[in-house]
Amino acid sequence: MEEQRKQGLLSVVLPAYNEEGSVPLAAETLCRLLSHAGIRHELIFVDDGSRDRTWAAVQAQAARRPQVRGIRFSRNFGKEAAIFAGLAQAAGDCAAVMDCDLQHPPEKVVDMYRLWQTGYQVIEGVKTSRGKESPLHTLAARSFYAILSRAAGVDMSRASDFKLLDRRAVDVLLAMREKNAFFRALSSWIGFSSTQVEFEVQPRQEGESKWSVRSLVRYALTNIASFSAAPLQLVTLLGAAVFLSSVGLGIHSLWKKLTGQALEGFTTVILLQLLIGSVLMICLGIIGYYIAKIYEEIKDRPRYIVADRCEGQAHEEHSEKDP
Ligand code: UDP
Ligand code: MG
Repeated sequence: MEEQRKQGLLSVVLPAYNEEGSVPLAAETLCRLLSHAGIRHELIFVDDGSRDRTWAAVQAQAARRPQVRGIRFSRNFGKEAAIFAGLAQAAGDCAAVMDCDLQHPPEKVVDMYRLWQTGYQVIEGVKTSRGKESPLHTLAARSFYAILSRAAGVDMSRASDFKLLDRRAVDVLLAMREKNAFFRALSSWIGFSSTQVEFEVQPRQEGESKWSVRSLVRYALTNIASFSAAPLQLVTLLGAAVFLSSVGLGIHSLWKKLTGQALEGFTTVILLQLLIGSVLMICLGIIGYYIAKIYEEIKDRPRYIVADRCEGQAHEEHSEKDP
């Protein structure tokens, strides 16, 4: 075990969506860095249905470097799917996941690998700061992580997708059958001996962020639903609250009726109708959302569809040290 860890092969999984500029940069930086550190490695680029020339860039890298491989999705399936596809391809004794825009500092992969060598099985990258964002974005992110931290039972406020996992942890994750797997939380949820490495989110090297406000909201809702049934309990809570106030109002109305001052409560009736109607509809919506999720899972469709693959080609002139 110890011996195997000392020389273990490291797979680096890099999801890429419209990253034609970042792919060569990431491949170059990582190969240089890891070769220099004497770590045996392979890079797995997952082209998540990009619309630009990302796949051509991945193929070009694979043609130049024996340790680069690529898979391409038939369409955009999202970052989570890309991460799981990459992990499924990983042949390493451990696998790192990082953004291919180099916002996760590549040097930290070496630190993570060293920690893995000492015996840790899950090494999580945690953010020291969240990089540059608008205040609204920060607030939204904060509430999202507050809900998820409670649901997952681990502090997620600084969590990221930047991680290094031992083979065993990778296999456990791959064996999970849920379609809406949320990598960031699941990799903490599985346990194992874990530790953290702090990193500072770097400014983007190339291109721009692929997240629109809409996709972020959808991402937040999906992941909360996949990790927590709390919104369903909220329905019960709302029901209880409305019930209690209706008991109060009932007593009040009865009192008025008995003392002969009824009739004037017309506004109250309208307000109550509106309130109860909207609460009911919100609750139905929440329940419907979960039913939709169950429906999605039960259809058992694949998480992603691979359209193409490429393998690293050994090149006589190029040694690993001199790409
Ligand atoms: N990404 C992906 N599929 C998507 C969106 C993003 O594979 O649908 C990848 C993207 O190429 C990058 C990483 O996920 O490597 C993080 O995306 P981005 O930099 O746009 O997000 P941010 O850093 O702003 O959170
Ligand atoms: Mg980024």
